[in-house]
Amino acid sequence: MNYVVETEIPCPWCGEYFPTTVDTSQGGYTTIEDCAVCCRPIAVTIACEPGDLQDMQVERG
Ligand SMILES: [Zn+2]
Repeated sequence: MNYVVETEIPCPWCGEYFPTTVDTSQGGYTTIEDCAVCCRPIAVTIACEPGDLQDMQVERG
């Protein structure tokens, strides 16, 4: 089973979307990603079951 899910993050700073991957094997987690477009930090909260990305919230990190 592939636990790594490809998704896109909407940047709360510049509004652009950029692709990323989420490791769903450990359940939900919070991480900081740098926007691929404007390089500002984004706090990403992941809600998932193993293999299934259920929800993703982003806010300015
Ligand atoms: Zn951005």
